[in-house]
Amino acid sequence: MANERVKCLIIGSGPAGYTAAIYTGRGNLSPVMYAGMQPGGQLTITTDVENYPGHPEPIGGFELMEQFKQQALNCGADIRTGNVTKVDFSKAPYTITVNDTTTVEADTVIIATGASAKYLGLPDEQKYAGAGVSACATCDGFFYRKKTVAVVGGGDTACEEASYLSNLASKVYLIVRKNYLRASKAMQKRVESIDNIEILYEHEVRGLFGERFVEGAKLVKHTPEGDQDVEIAIDGLFLAIGHHPNTEIFKEWLDTDETGYLITEPGTPRTKIPGVFAAGDVADPHYRQAITAAASGCQAAIEAERFLNQ
Ligand code: NDP
Repeated sequence: MANERVKCLIIGSGPAGYTAAIYTGRGNLSPVMYAGMQPGGQLTITTDVENYPGHPEPIGGFELMEQFKQQALNCGADIRTGNVTKVDFSKAPYTITVNDTTTVEADTVIIATGASAKYLGLPDEQKYAGAGVSACATCDGFFYRKKTVAVVGGGDTACEEASYLSNLASKVYLIVRKNYLRASKAMQKRVESIDNIEILYEHEVRGLFGERFVEGAKLVKHTPEGDQDVEIAIDGLFLAIGHHPNTEIFKEWLDTDETGYLITEPGTPRTKIPGVFAAGDVADPHYRQAITAAASGCQAAIEAERFLNQ
C-alpha cells in the first residue's frame, strides 16, 4: 500500500526537473519532486555559466540552480530530499519507491535524473579515490592550491576544469587522447592562452602511483613510431571525460539506446509508457545544455498536464 498518491512526480532536480516543477506547479498539478543524490544536478558543480539566456553576466552554476529551485517553490512545488531507488511502471498509477522505504503512487512521472561523471575504469581510480582522484574541479580544486594537477579529456568540461584549476594550481596538464580538442573554439582558445596549462595531446592515462596520495601518473604517448611510456609528477587527477545517463532503475520498463540514454518519441518527452515522460540529459545524448534541459522540462510538464486532462 503506497504512502501517498500524487498527480505528478518529478524525479531529479537539475534544470529539467526544476523547469518541469515550475510549469506543473503553475498548472495546479501540485508536483512532488525528489531531488536525488546531487540536488541541483551537474550545474551545481560547475563554475561560471555564461550561456544561460537572461544572465548577461556570468552566474555561478550553484547560484543559478538555487534560483531555479526558489522559482519552483514559489510556483507551489513540493521539493523533497530523497533518492528514487525503484519504479514500477507496470500499471497506472505508477509506484515509485524512495530510499527503498517510502512508496508514492503517481498519475504522471517526469524523469529528469540527468547524467553522472564517467571514470576511466582503472583500478587506481578506486585506490586513490579521495586521495588525489576527483571528477569535480570546483568541489576539490581548493585542495590543490600551488600544486600540480592533471585533467583528462578534450571536451568543454575538461577545458573548463583545466582553466578553473589553473587559477589555483601552479601547473595543470590537460591529457587529451586525440591530437585535437573536441571542445568549442572559445574554450580551446582559452586553455591554449593560459601559461600554466600544458596540453599533452595523444596521451592516455594507464595508472597512478604514490605512497598514500597520488604522486604521479603513468601515461602512454601515441607516436607514429609506436607507444611510449611517460611518467608525470602530479598531486591530483581530475576526470572530465563525459557522463553516463542515470537510467539504471528505468531500464526494466523503458527503452534505452546503446549508451543507456532513454529513448523518447522524436521531438517529444513521451516515453513508450503513457504518462511517463523523460526530460533533460537523461534522454539527450546530443545537446546536453542547461537551456535544452530546461526546455525539455517545460515540454514534459505540458505533456503531463495534457495527459491528465484527457
Ligand atoms: P564530451 O563528450 O564533449 O567530451 C569528452 C572528452 O573526453 C572527449 O575529448 C573524449 O575524447 C574524452 N574521453 C572520453 N572517454 C575517454 C577515455 N576513456 N580516455 C580519455 N579520454 C576520453 O563531454 P563534456 O563533458 O566535455 O561535454 C558534454 C557536453 O556538455 C558537450 O556538449 C559540451 O559542449 C557541453 N558543455 C558545455 C559547456 C559550456 O558551454 N560552458 C561546459 C561543459 C560542457 P574524444 O574526443 O577522443 O572522444
